[in-house]
Amino acid sequence: MKSLTVVLTAALLGTTLFAAPARAGTPAPSAPVSAGEAPARLIPARPSPDDVRRSLARIARDSDGRVRLGVIGRSNEGRALRLASVGHGPTRLLYVTQQHGDEPLGTPAAVRLLWSLGVPRTAWHRWLLSRVTIDVVVQANPDGAVRNQRYNHDPEATGDYSEPGVGYDINRFHNPLTPIADNPVPESRAVLRLWRATRPQVVIDYHMQGRYRQPDGRETTASILWPTSPLAPAPAVTAARRLAVVNDAAMTRVAGANVTRYPGGDYEGIARNAYGILGSSSLLVELSDLPAEQVEFQIRTAFVSMLATAQAAADGSLRRADPARADTIPARGPALPGVLSPLTRVDAA
Ligand SMILES: [Zn+2]
Repeated sequence: MKSLTVVLTAALLGTTLFAAPARAGTPAPSAPVSAGEAPARLIPARPSPDDVRRSLARIARDSDGRVRLGVIGRSNEGRALRLASVGHGPTRLLYVTQQHGDEPLGTPAAVRLLWSLGVPRTAWHRWLLSRVTIDVVVQANPDGAVRNQRYNHDPEATGDYSEPGVGYDINRFHNPLTPIADNPVPESRAVLRLWRATRPQVVIDYHMQGRYRQPDGRETTASILWPTSPLAPAPAVTAARRLAVVNDAAMTRVAGANVTRYPGGDYEGIARNAYGILGSSSLLVELSDLPAEQVEFQIRTAFVSMLATAQAAADGSLRRADPARADTIPARGPALPGVLSPLTRVDAA
């Protein structure tokens, strides 16, 4: 990962997607520099809540306080819902990982991002962190993570989007139209409250999906989608389509991902839709559940998504991307035959 930012910046600057010139006087860094390489064994690929706590504490210490830690709520079993923040710029970004406890890989990606932005100290870092503030809800579903299950832990859960005796699907309880006092899911309430406190311009929610093949025979390695709820205002949807274009380009060209469009639904309780309805540029990223030898590749894909989004928000290219290009992202193909992944579900985001 050492030269990733060199590659990333070159890829972003070298594409016509981002070709509009920066405004005169914009102090973009004159030369791309490395974001640095997170230390080996900073965090496992499938971390426990304790792994998350330890790695974040280490980053906060090693960053001399540039990475700030907080707790935005508690799960039903009392586990901390952890927030880590870096940067002090006016443009706020919110990344959420592992709402579904059995979809872990966004979490190690976020921890590496926090190290890479918070610990090294170069001109590029100072520039980036003066432009953006990045808030990360790291492992939003710790009770589900310890059980390797989709749902939170709530044996009393009833009604739509619950699994009786197990818990609620956190990613169906972000509906901004539901009074927060009527929301039975503490993890969702915590993210909604954080949104209202910070009003982020960008929200990206990291998940995992099963395995899918395109008509050309290639396998989808990641799928993305912007808000599709009819309640999402048009400017927010346009901004989210720009965010999708930037993410598609970076994940494809820098990480080598094969990106398709996720076939998600319109329900307003899904984070992708909810934060779009509230006006954020909102995106879902789904990493495919590839074999063990490609786990590192998948973590890197999510890391690139997070870093490219921060770079594009900071340098203004996010505002200049062509939203119409989102329509060129191909639809996701059918499930890979003969492969059983517990994550191969219809509209599982
Ligand atoms: Zn999911």
